Amino acid sequence: MSTPVTAARGTALTARSWSTEAALRMLHNNLDPEVAERPEDLVVYGGTGKAARDWPSFHALTRELTDLREDETLLVQSGRPVGVLRTHEWAPRVLLANANLVPDWASWPEFRRLDALGLTMYGQMTAGSWIYIGTQGILQGTYETFAAVAEKRFGGSLRGTVTVTAGLGGMGGAQPLAVTMNEGVALVVECDAERAHRRVATRYLDEVASDLDSAIRTVERARRGGEPLSVAVIGNAAEILPELLRRGVEVDIVTDQTSAHDPLAYLPKGVAPEDWGDYAAAKPDEFTDRARESMAEHVEAMLGFLDAGAEVFDYGNSLREEARLGGCARAFDYPGFVPAYIRPLFCEGKGPFRWAALSGDPADIAATDRAVLELFGDDDRLARWIRMAGERVAFQGLPARICWLGYGERDRAGQRFNDMVASGELSAPVVIGRDHLDCGSVASPYRETEGMADGSDAIADWPLLNALVNTASGATWVSLHHGGGVGMGRSIHAGQVTVADGTELAARKLDRVLTNDPATGVLRHADAGYGRAVEVADGRGLRVPMRAG
Ligand code: NAD
Repeated sequence: MSTPVTAARGTALTARSWSTEAALRMLHNNLDPEVAERPEDLVVYGGTGKAARDWPSFHALTRELTDLREDETLLVQSGRPVGVLRTHEWAPRVLLANANLVPDWASWPEFRRLDALGLTMYGQMTAGSWIYIGTQGILQGTYETFAAVAEKRFGGSLRGTVTVTAGLGGMGGAQPLAVTMNEGVALVVECDAERAHRRVATRYLDEVASDLDSAIRTVERARRGGEPLSVAVIGNAAEILPELLRRGVEVDIVTDQTSAHDPLAYLPKGVAPEDWGDYAAAKPDEFTDRARESMAEHVEAMLGFLDAGAEVFDYGNSLREEARLGGCARAFDYPGFVPAYIRPLFCEGKGPFRWAALSGDPADIAATDRAVLELFGDDDRLARWIRMAGERVAFQGLPARICWLGYGERDRAGQRFNDMVASGELSAPVVIGRDHLDCGSVASPYRETEGMADGSDAIADWPLLNALVNTASGATWVSLHHGGGVGMGRSIHAGQVTVADGTELAARKLDRVLTNDPATGVLRHADAGYGRAVEVADGRGLRVPMRAG
């Protein structure tokens, strides 16, 4: 245990340089009680995604980052600092590898065995790579996804529609606000009342219903009135969804963001939330079987809504595969959200670009918002997002912003931010990074690379190349993880974070990293034969040696 952790604010360095100060502040920010889901256990989000292996490792990371020099690189093996090497000023200050296992050993039981021995750590995507920015991080992606659903099925708006989903955790908590931002009504099932109330406190959720009857009444009233509204109901998704189906509640869209990727993080039917932790720890195999059975019932209900004509999609948590293991034969009858809505964006190198103000001053983010509107204001959807985010998103920890930008855009934003630091328009440096859920940085056959045109879903060379490219291009820290999003054995992914400290050197590094990082996404999709990616490469001068067509 340790006292609550918060990142330093302001312009005074506590480390030797801004690049190490940035890593230090972002590690601490990940564990800020406003940001992390269970900071006392070092858990940031996504079930058990952690920022450091244990408290002694956390304190050692803090010490090493405080002392690290501009020609040194700290190696982090699954949340624990294991070495400091002499490198050079263009090298990353930190290299992280989290939860990687040799493929034949890459299962939850083996991971847990090693975790119990204190030898590894689950890093999720941005937990172990120190660029989690709270629920906002997923909000824009979720907003974009629901906007795409609205576009595809409901004439461009969700007004007058009801979306049913579950899970109000770190990521899932973005769902209600993303639906209401698209003018729809959301009914969200969450088994942990405290999580639901937390989302109300941070303005992601409008209200928590006293019971299912009142939730249904409220939701139907809002739908009839065309009023955007989000309502949580406390209960188990494996019970509530079948009940909604049985009662014939009219539902237009169904998805889910419980932590299904880890069967121990999904509450089985008939288990009280307060018994969850002890039961999962004491009998992991029995708990896993029961969780999978419940997931099968949960997915059967989703299929019932699909059969009744609803738009149903998997939201990247492995629910379909776990339900299949629990006996649901038709689990894969509905698609994942990437092939259904997101892949065209990946072909343009677009993905969840994000930045955080190391000053801690919200005015710095307001200034970067204005800069983004100046640079990309003719992109209507992006401009609408930036304006709404400015009005409606409550910051958690260091002020931060996310917006999806593509190849040829991210480097322009990075240069502008660096100029703003240099001129004093921003009061301190900013860090610029992204989620691992990006166009070229992940292999995940149940999510980002589901249904690739050339069948290359499970090819994991791409995230490895992405990490190497960012290391070679001047990123400040680079990470390579296994199992994020969808769980052990099912994904390999990489991240980068680069500091804009206003120097000439930072400008050159940002130019390389923010060009080359999304370039790997365009290359990955051009290689798989996507015409749009080939067009983007041709149009924007990206060399593809053996391009199709
Ligand atoms: P989390 O662990 O913080 O939250 C999960 C929530 O689900 C918890 O609040 C938990 O109480 C609730 N829950 C568990 N079982 C339940 C049940 N049977 N009924 C009702 N509620 C239940 O996780 P998170 O960070 O919100 O992530 C959720 C999932 O989404 C994870 O599997 C994660 O890997 C995945 N994810 C998806 C994306 C994406 O872009 N789609 C991105 C990141 C993560």
